[in-house]
Amino acid sequence: MRINKYIASCGVASRRKAEEIILDGRVTVNGKLVTELAFNIDEEKDIVEIDGEQIGVEKNNVYIVLNKPEGYITTVKDQFDRPSVLDLVKDIDERVYPIGRLDYETSGLLILTNDGDLTYKLTHPKHEVDKTYMAIVKGVPNAQEIKNFEEGLYIEDYKTAPAKIKVVKINEEKNYSICQIKIHEGRNRQVRKMCRAINHPVLRLKRSAMGKIVLKDLEVGQYRHLTKEEVAYLK
Ligand code: URA
Repeated sequence: MRINKYIASCGVASRRKAEEIILDGRVTVNGKLVTELAFNIDEEKDIVEIDGEQIGVEKNNVYIVLNKPEGYITTVKDQFDRPSVLDLVKDIDERVYPIGRLDYETSGLLILTNDGDLTYKLTHPKHEVDKTYMAIVKGVPNAQEIKNFEEGLYIEDYKTAPAKIKVVKINEEKNYSICQIKIHEGRNRQVRKMCRAINHPVLRLKRSAMGKIVLKDLEVGQYRHLTKEEVAYLK
């Protein structure tokens, strides 16, 4: 099996992320450094280590949905030692990783799994599901701004795909509105950049759904296991 596929099947990272890990020189096979993406391993015999820690195929696939609090990163570690969402799922024995990312300041729905193939599928642009966000934005988007948002905006060097934005509540006194936003893509800080592009910067952001998966009544910081039907739907 190709080394990147093997790393993904161990639930350690998506295939793309696995390639990065390999190219960064963090992987050894039977004690020897491997930086070649085409390297094939024998899953039965070879000992694969990342950063000196042996990995193996997890037999038990776990799928959970977390209501991420603001103030948590969705990677394992960062240079500032900020808390990670993985600290919130410590009682799960399997090593799970988030599918996609939420910003440090964003709260809401985050799916974590050790199923690298599902991570690979859901983070591939072709398979992305619609993501729904509730955003508190400065001011109130008008009809023209909503049209621009929905038709696609130029942010940095690309035009966003059609998206949806609906104003659901207005607070005139404090000059903000609450908007429901649906986007199909998943680029870095995309909702924030799109709102800024129509001159209504995000003040707070929460993801409420990924496709048909919703938080239900999960408290902030709590998680639940996805139902069989939810897993089948994502696959
Ligand atoms: N878009 C953003 O700007 N931030 C997120 O965390 C998710 C989507």
